[in-house]
Amino acid sequence: MKKTFCRMCKSKKLRKFLDLGNQPLSDGFLTKEMINLGKEKKYPLQVCMCMNCGNLQLAHTVPANEMFGDNYLYESGITKAVKTHFAGLAEELCKEFSLGKDTLVIDIGSNVGALLESFKEHGTKVLGIDPASRVAKIAVARGVPTINEFFSYELARKIVQEYGHAKIITGTNVFAHIDDLYGLMEGINELLDKDGVFVVEVPHFLELVNNLEYDTIYHEHASYILIKPTQAFLQKQGFEIFKIKKTSMHGGTLRIFIARQKTRPVSDSVKEIIEIEKKQKIFSLKKLKQFAGKVKQQKKELIKLLTKLKKQKKKIVGAGAAAKGNTLLNYCKINTNFLGYITDKSELKIGRYTPGTHIPIYNDQKLLEDMPDYVLILAWNFAEEIMHNLSAYKEKGGKFVIPIPLVEVV
Ligand SMILES: [Zn+2]
Repeated sequence: MKKTFCRMCKSKKLRKFLDLGNQPLSDGFLTKEMINLGKEKKYPLQVCMCMNCGNLQLAHTVPANEMFGDNYLYESGITKAVKTHFAGLAEELCKEFSLGKDTLVIDIGSNVGALLESFKEHGTKVLGIDPASRVAKIAVARGVPTINEFFSYELARKIVQEYGHAKIITGTNVFAHIDDLYGLMEGINELLDKDGVFVVEVPHFLELVNNLEYDTIYHEHASYILIKPTQAFLQKQGFEIFKIKKTSMHGGTLRIFIARQKTRPVSDSVKEIIEIEKKQKIFSLKKLKQFAGKVKQQKKELIKLLTKLKKQKKKIVGAGAAAKGNTLLNYCKINTNFLGYITDKSELKIGRYTPGTHIPIYNDQKLLEDMPDYVLILAWNFAEEIMHNLSAYKEKGGKFVIPIPLVEVV
């Protein structure tokens, strides 16, 4: 559905600057039967800037139940890097806000419960909320109480009646996924303790531009976060960002601390990031169009390399069937013409096919047995970990292609 107004300030002054073509949902991994049915849907993948407040969002939104319902397979916390990151986040929040055994921590978009497991180790009460039934079931089986629903004001009211208010609400890689941010903040306002803190982790759009991470653009990510418009939006809802911390997760993630307005001193870190955003002219359409030009160039270079390798009869496969990989594969039109298959660790994805490009997914073992000449790393944010897991391949002379930010063979 075409989004005609800005989800932060409601202005209709939206300008498109990037078009990645019509794409299927990037987490919509298919079974053979689903491919045979031939009903895979595609939606325009284009990004706009709001000329009024500077917010960035997709030109088209996909209904949330199509993206995060029963077919949603992404498991967060199956890589070591994410596990360590979550453990660090839980420890930091428990220390900083003196969380004890009576405090309730709620995670929105709790997935398989990896973050809440870390909180449990610190002895807090925990509750997860996730609309995707498969991952929610896994969380419950792991001992993390999880409500399998979309977060809403109504759900927040029910939770308050049953569990009380939350001292901490977390949302890691959730804020940018939500279409109705007004509804989200109404729910937070209901659920959060008076002096509670809402901690959000989102990729910073500035990093996306500077590191050419265009593959993190997909339908699940409805917005691309900059602090200036986000702060203005939150202040209108009676909240404000009082601290920001940079982390290296997913190629540059911000840990954003939000509380009710004037309940906590606002740290310089907030002003500093807004200043950097302005200084780098990220709110200018010219800068954004330059970025779009670089994206086109990267596609050309990657195709050039893969075509050359194919002419030399080299065998190429992919590693890491990540959602972001699918934006890249679909935009660059890389399918089984270039990649024999892709390997992944997720049991839920193995045996399925990538959306749009229909490349089969196998486990890492197959790659080690086949010893292809090149491995294209699709989940480049976990490149270190993937290369480490495949060190036996590398030792036998295998080569890796890292596509982003620059096409590189290692
Ligand atoms: Zn706006």
